[in-house]
Amino acid sequence: MSRHREVKQAIIDACLWLEEKGYFIGTYGNVSVRVEGGLIITPSRVDYRSLTPEDMVWVSDEGQLVEGVRLPSSELEVHRCIYLRRADIGAIVHTHSLAATALACMRREVPVIVEEQAQVIGSVIPCTRYVPAGQHRRLGEEAARALGDCNALLLANHGAVSCAATLEEALFTCVIVERVAQMYLLTSAAGGPLTIPQEFVISERERFLYRYGKAEDHAETE
Ligand SMILES: [Zn+2]
Repeated sequence: MSRHREVKQAIIDACLWLEEKGYFIGTYGNVSVRVEGGLIITPSRVDYRSLTPEDMVWVSDEGQLVEGVRLPSSELEVHRCIYLRRADIGAIVHTHSLAATALACMRREVPVIVEEQAQVIGSVIPCTRYVPAGQHRRLGEEAARALGDCNALLLANHGAVSCAATLEEALFTCVIVERVAQMYLLTSAAGGPLTIPQEFVISERERFLYRYGKAEDHAETE
């Protein structure tokens, strides 16, 4: 029996959910979770509906195969480079969702325009410089650089990447990224959004992380 079976099954469940939502097109899109010394990631070019835990690929921090019979996703380097740079990230979801990819095609950083973005992402959503498809290592390095301290980013002319401590949070982040992208496109077409001042982005993120849903938070807002 393969190790980390529960992690592998959770990745499969995430893929099926993302495909149902239309965030994954064909086999475009991938999911990973950090494990000791490396990460477990979806395989390259396997239909999500036929995935089994044995199809998942375990790769070391150095990029070497630890366990698995499949080739890892061709976008492994995006995941690996981000995990290497950010110790706080435990799961990464890469999608080709429509609105986020549309913005990625404009190579535009998304400012903080709505409170759920301030709360869940906590910053602008940066965009990478363009890296041609097939230059996997360069794309990984560029993604990690552009991400910086943020929790989501756009890959130029390609798609979106959402990061969080857990897979559940990374999935929620990717839903927020797509919603923010839709709102940005809608408001841009209608004259342009007004952004949330940075001081309130910081306070809203802090409130979401530490005080949201607690009695003290209610008392303060009344
Ligand atoms: Zn992709």
